[in-house]
Amino acid sequence: MLTHPTQTAFLSSVDLHTHCAYQFMMSEAIAIVCAPKCEETGYFTLTEHGLNFISRCRESGFHPHPNEKSLYTHAQHCKFESTADVKVIDLRAK
Ligand SMILES: [Zn+2]
Repeated sequence: MLTHPTQTAFLSSVDLHTHCAYQFMMSEAIAIVCAPKCEETGYFTLTEHGLNFISRCRESGFHPHPNEKSLYTHAQHCKFESTADVKVIDLRAK
C-alpha cells in the first residue's frame, strides 16, 4: 500500500518499480494508493507491457518513463466486499 499525502492516486516511477517486483512474484498482486487529500484510493496493476518495460528499466529514484499511462491500469480483478472479515496488520517496526 502506498500513500500520496498531497497528490492524486496514481503510480509514480518509484511505485511502478516497487510494484513490479511484487507482481512478478504474484501475478494477481495489486498496488493500492491512498490519496487522502483527494479522498481517492486507487487499485492498480501493471499491464503486460508495463511489466516488461519496468523490469528492463535500470533507472532509480523518481524518473520519467515514456507513455507512462500504458504501463499500468486499474485492477479489474479487485472485488469489494463490505462484510469481509479482514484484519490489517502494520508490520513496520515501531
Ligand atoms: Zn524506471
